Amino acid sequence: MADTRTSTGADTRNPVAEAGSRTVADVVTPALVARLAAGVTAGTTGAPPTLGTSRNPFTGEVLAELPESTPEDVAAAFDRARAAQRGWAQRSVREREAVLLRFHDLVLAEQAELLDLLQAETGKARVHAFEEVSVAAVVSRHYGRRSAAYLRPRRRSGVYPVLTQVTEVRQPKGVVGQITPWNYPLALLVDDAIPAFAAGNAVVTKPDTQTALAPLRARELMIEAGLPAEAWQIVIGDGPVVGPEVVAHADYVSFTGSTRTGRDVAQRAAARLVASSMELGGKNAMIVLADADLDRAAEGAVRACFASAGQLCVSIERLFVAREVADAFLEKFTARTRALRLGNSLGWGADMGSLVSERQLENVVRHVDEAVQNGARVLAGGRPRPDVGPLFYEPTVLDGVDAASAVCAEETFGPVVSVYRFDTEDEAVARANDTRYGLNASVWSSSQAHGRRIAARLQAGTVNVNEAYAATYGSAAAPMGGMGDSGVGRRHGSEGILRYTEVQTIAVQRLVPVAPAFGLDDERFAKVLTRALGAMKALRLR
Ligand code: NAD
Repeated sequence: MADTRTSTGADTRNPVAEAGSRTVADVVTPALVARLAAGVTAGTTGAPPTLGTSRNPFTGEVLAELPESTPEDVAAAFDRARAAQRGWAQRSVREREAVLLRFHDLVLAEQAELLDLLQAETGKARVHAFEEVSVAAVVSRHYGRRSAAYLRPRRRSGVYPVLTQVTEVRQPKGVVGQITPWNYPLALLVDDAIPAFAAGNAVVTKPDTQTALAPLRARELMIEAGLPAEAWQIVIGDGPVVGPEVVAHADYVSFTGSTRTGRDVAQRAAARLVASSMELGGKNAMIVLADADLDRAAEGAVRACFASAGQLCVSIERLFVAREVADAFLEKFTARTRALRLGNSLGWGADMGSLVSERQLENVVRHVDEAVQNGARVLAGGRPRPDVGPLFYEPTVLDGVDAASAVCAEETFGPVVSVYRFDTEDEAVARANDTRYGLNASVWSSSQAHGRRIAARLQAGTVNVNEAYAATYGSAAAPMGGMGDSGVGRRHGSEGILRYTEVQTIAVQRLVPVAPAFGLDDERFAKVLTRALGAMKALRLR
């Protein structure tokens, strides 16, 4: 790829970062693509597969062509995964944890290649690609250390104290069907696949065709770490064609993507009586309280709004600022926004990268242009940057957005934030909650207690106090997910692994049956039991 980074000269808005020395073509070679393509389950019937194309967002040039899976291929992928799952589930949890911990080390050791692949397929800045590598490490460490504790059998009180010994055990679901989007192809893959493996499942993943290289490389690393190769199948193809095939065979469905598609996937899974988790869209709010440290809040807002060019489910698109500090905050925030460096090539240095596709760019342009036509003021950004790359758009801050504009309530999924001023904290909370979504929120205050109080009033699955999203997302021991239209179920923590299990209750009855015994007739048995039940309550038995 020719390096197109140029200086913006006198126009210092969004100066372009320094060029990296390697090009995408140096990294994504035909040999690498051919090797990774061999990891796709396709062509199982012998017919040559059609090819799905991804493009390098920095230039629009073709990046890779990968074989697409037919419905027969998806069925074959599930058959293979199901066969491999039996042996995998028989390994002890400790052995499975050891595989996860080796994967952790491999991801960190091989990060340069993963970062290159992530940048090449998403167009994001390297610093945001690194977020994916760190999530992969954090999640595999967490489940590499905690799975045995999450999955261990638990004693429960029995119907007859001492005489009924009850144990709750966790069995794997079987084969998990995983569908992932293009925006965080490595992080979201690992978030949901790693705990599925830890619980003894096999996985069939359908990544987005645009971003399948990093998942295919991650699969190679898991196999190197000790996962049986057949236990992780990757299928590729059009979402509306291959996605429903995955749902049709899965024993559990783990979906990450838009609310619209998630609704369809959840219905298909429900019709099969198969459980699912849905990690969907958001219209996340940040609240800057009057007592916030404005420098920290302005710096945090930049991370919150423009990481991965705003193509992040937990990024902030609505910014509520206490009126008395709004001018001072906005001065700091817009100055930092204007100074962000756009970058269109591999390597460190850029603060923000490209949008991923024409569709994303059109959506951003539509939202901003409509808001401006309806009277919004552009405080920073507000225009595409074809001089940097075909899909670049400046980080944008809008003021005075009216409720009729789509950007006010619809997810933009781009580098655009709307600013609103509030007079009271009740008003800020009410407006932040005035959305059908409920994924993530951020609150800024110099008092932790104050921040916590406001956080608890927000209807969002995660709330970060004095951070944008990474404090909750990076804490893999605690659940992460959405309320309302942002989803059903949680990833990370105990919920993130127990969803992949069937709970089974085993009760061993000793000495006497749970029925009349010792010659008691039914009436006497009922009397004895009535006394016993009263005694059990008095003894505070549970
Ligand atoms: P999308 O719903 O269009 O696609 C997501 C995945 O589903 C892709 O792999 C796609 O090929 C597949 N798909 C498409 N149609 C399908 C169908 N009918 N049946 C089954 N699968 C189908 O979403 P997108 O535009 O790729 O991703 C962006 C969206 O994802 C945003 O709304 C974003 O907020 C959301 N997201 C949510 C989270 C989260 O954790 N909550 C994380 C990242 C992204």
